[in-house]
Amino acid sequence: MKVDFECVVVGAGVVGLAVAREMARAGHEVLLIEAGEAIGMGISSRNSEVIHAGIYYPTGSLKAQLCVEGRHRLYDYCEHHGVETRRLGKLIVAKDETQKAGLNALFERGLANGVDDLRLLDRQQALELEPALACVAALYSPSTGIVDSHALMLALQGDAEAAGATLAFHTPLSSARISADGFLLELGGTAQMSLSCRRLINAAGLQAPALARRIDGLAPQTVPDDHLCKGNYFSLAGRAPFRHLVYPAPEAAGLGIHMTLDLAGQARFGPDVEWVEREDYRVDPARAEAFYPAIRNYWPDLPDQSLQPSYSGLRPKISGPGEPARDFLISSPAEHQVPGLINLFGIESPGLTSCLAIATRVRQLIASV
Ligand SMILES: Cc1cc2nc3c(=O)[nH]c(=O)nc-3n(C[C@H](O)[C@H](O)[C@H](O)COP(=O)(O)OP(=O)(O)OC[C@H]3O[C@@H](n4cnc5c(N)ncnc54)[C@H](O)[C@@H]3O)c2cc1C
Repeated sequence: MKVDFECVVVGAGVVGLAVAREMARAGHEVLLIEAGEAIGMGISSRNSEVIHAGIYYPTGSLKAQLCVEGRHRLYDYCEHHGVETRRLGKLIVAKDETQKAGLNALFERGLANGVDDLRLLDRQQALELEPALACVAALYSPSTGIVDSHALMLALQGDAEAAGATLAFHTPLSSARISADGFLLELGGTAQMSLSCRRLINAAGLQAPALARRIDGLAPQTVPDDHLCKGNYFSLAGRAPFRHLVYPAPEAAGLGIHMTLDLAGQARFGPDVEWVEREDYRVDPARAEAFYPAIRNYWPDLPDQSLQPSYSGLRPKISGPGEPARDFLISSPAEHQVPGLINLFGIESPGLTSCLAIATRVRQLIASV
């Protein structure tokens, strides 16, 4: 059986859902296919749920632009769709004078990125906000917050379906072939069928590069190498020591072992950085040994034995260990010369914050097919 759809989006994580919504609302006939049994079973349900301000990323990068734009739009969207958010604010803390210089650089970078509400705090000002903190200085970001990511995805799904999008679960895209006027798709799972489409958007998260390699006719050099970088979380037994989110000065592959709060006020620490070869979400309790000293840099009163293994997520990296971090890669016809195709590679943090802005970018990039 052969079915024709104008636009097929692969992957019902927060990015695929936002893209399906955007394309359907722009009048496209959209089919969103998801390999799993429900929305948001991948990276989108294994993260810190932080709405980032846009401080860290190189000025002019997609991460910087889409995070700042996405953050404004996300708060607004959530407010109008009954999705819970909380603007808790965040403190990035320096433990010594060297890190203090790093905070000044982050402040300048944040300003250049359009984060216009940052404040540098001295030790006393930081302690007034968080008395349990140990630091020599802090960078305060009032517009950083948290979001109920599952409620967000449900709202995006509802919007997409209300705009006419069709959502199919248990429907993995096995392979695709570029045809004269679009794509011929082979679907596996319960679908087991072929269908054709004019536009194809690969939002398959961790699987996006592997899937792109199965698009017959796509130049392989346009698909980056992919790497899995696990982030483990530990939850704190007992009351949270802080009301704001607290981050150390950033590290190479992540933002450092930070403390975030969930919407119930429970504190968790992480994610750390563990390069892995395959998907395995178990949290090794022994990794707590590295958490205690890292956390005590900014919270010396962390009690012994108070951390419990919680959950983990995998960052869809397109740079390997020791390599410089890479930007989001929204690979469009300008790069790969295939009309109607978008591959979304390396959509790691701040992908949740940026989802609405990524979706608009995708629509603009394939509008002209
Ligand atoms: C540890 C960690 C912490 C993070 N913290 C934050 C944060 O605090 N704030 C923030 O803004 N961002 C954060 N992020 C980033 C954010 O979570 C991701 O950018 C975002 O969730 C990516 O969503 P996605 O839709 O691209 O991927 P996913 O949610 O993984 O969705 C991809 C979907 O595609 C499906 N799929 C795969 N292959 C196929 C196929 N062949 N056919 C059909 N379907 C397929 C999968 O089943 C999956 O459902 C974090 C990420 C990690 C790993």
